[in-house]
Amino acid sequence: MPIDFLAASCNGTPMRFRFPTMRWQTRCFVGPTARVLKSTIYPRSEPKPVASLVVESDWILPVESPAIRGGFLVVQSGRIEYFGSELPVRYRSWPRVRLEDGVILPGLINSHCHLEFSDIESPLLAVESSDNESTTGGASMVRWLGKVMARRKALVDTGQDIAQIKKEATLRGVREAWSSATRLVVDNVTAPWSEDWLEQASSGFFADRRSEFIDALVCGPPILIRPCVELVDVNEARGKQTWNYALELMSRIDERRSQGVCQTPLGLAPHAPYTASKRLVRGALERTSHPGGLLSMHLAESPEELQWIEDREGPMKDWIEPWIDTEHAMEIGTVDEHLRLLSGSHRALIAHGNYLSDHQIKWLESYRDRMAVVYCPRTHEHFRHARHPANRLAASKIPLFLGTDSRASNPDLSVFEEWKTACRLFPELGPEYWMAACTLRPSEFFGLESSVGTLRVGSRSVLTWVPLGPASVVTQESLWDAILSAERAIPLEMVYS
Ligand SMILES: [Zn+2]
Repeated sequence: MPIDFLAASCNGTPMRFRFPTMRWQTRCFVGPTARVLKSTIYPRSEPKPVASLVVESDWILPVESPAIRGGFLVVQSGRIEYFGSELPVRYRSWPRVRLEDGVILPGLINSHCHLEFSDIESPLLAVESSDNESTTGGASMVRWLGKVMARRKALVDTGQDIAQIKKEATLRGVREAWSSATRLVVDNVTAPWSEDWLEQASSGFFADRRSEFIDALVCGPPILIRPCVELVDVNEARGKQTWNYALELMSRIDERRSQGVCQTPLGLAPHAPYTASKRLVRGALERTSHPGGLLSMHLAESPEELQWIEDREGPMKDWIEPWIDTEHAMEIGTVDEHLRLLSGSHRALIAHGNYLSDHQIKWLESYRDRMAVVYCPRTHEHFRHARHPANRLAASKIPLFLGTDSRASNPDLSVFEEWKTACRLFPELGPEYWMAACTLRPSEFFGLESSVGTLRVGSRSVLTWVPLGPASVVTQESLWDAILSAERAIPLEMVYS
């Protein structure tokens, strides 16, 4: 959820590491999660592959294929050259490290986030609905939104530099995401914002910790951010403001076709049915129906939203009516209408979808090549929503991904924790299903299989390391349980940090 969807404006090279001349040296890395048992020194006379490495691990779990115990992962200049249970002869003279007591997984994908709120220390309280307002016994989205907006207003009133505050929050969010093994974030952005913040955030990840290990694993950005510019048109002025800002960013950034952290083309994010009219969504569609286009929209998120857009009733009525003008009021769309519009996009994300009905899920079956639902388990719990329709979506084979939403409703930005929560709440779908929901499935949906979310030969080696208990007690059968019991996930390249 955004912070200022009603407020006025607040005025607010790929990394190429030099490696070839370095020699791999025998080291004694001792960290909390892994040890190097063996490494190989290249004879000076022997030609050495550039930034190459063999990682021997207790477990390698590609998710789309069975786990490999005592496997080998071969990487070269940031790409996976080979993985398997045996090490082919041609790699046996390559530098080698052995990692113990853990598992290597694909990089994680966060399909819905608002990095700009990453400076919020703990989730804003979602106050209970009062008896005469409540429809489900859950918390009040309207009151929570009021708190989010009040927080922003307080910052503006203090005269602080909002752009600087947002920049620092975004930098913090990118770092937090990466440090918990996230490799792609779909991020709603609002003005003021800059793509330079993303590059700046990632440039300091390794600081003085560069090593041959890191250089071999990571060539290029260690995390990718796909910005979706938020659009709101509760009234004409706000509509023009957000639309013009989106156009300005698109013309500036999409031209560059950046190969850095910031992924292009930029997506668009009509905020929600109570803040973005059908007219606005139609306009956004014209910009995102082409290959690579992406729309992301909060939809069917709360009972209050449904009461407002279906019946013009409920707590949202008093809250939002003072803001909206006649033009907007005439173009408020239902969930059905917005689903139909979103289906015209090349790819569309339905953020939350907590209250999608059976007929809407049935309808989505025809568009599962281009529409996906992003479930945010801990944010869902924060608001004590009715049970998410994850089982029905899974049964209909509709793409279902995981997201964190923002720190305004979530204690951190760990996709790994979202995965654990989804496994706890929907054990019938299984840990493998949920891990695919934050790795392989969104990677395929976005066409990024060679970049993030996969553990395949030829794909980038931006991977996850999950420290487990002693390997002797972990078996094929108990591997997922061991991962579920793990305390954290980290980027593989940070295993020695
Ligand atoms: Zn959100």
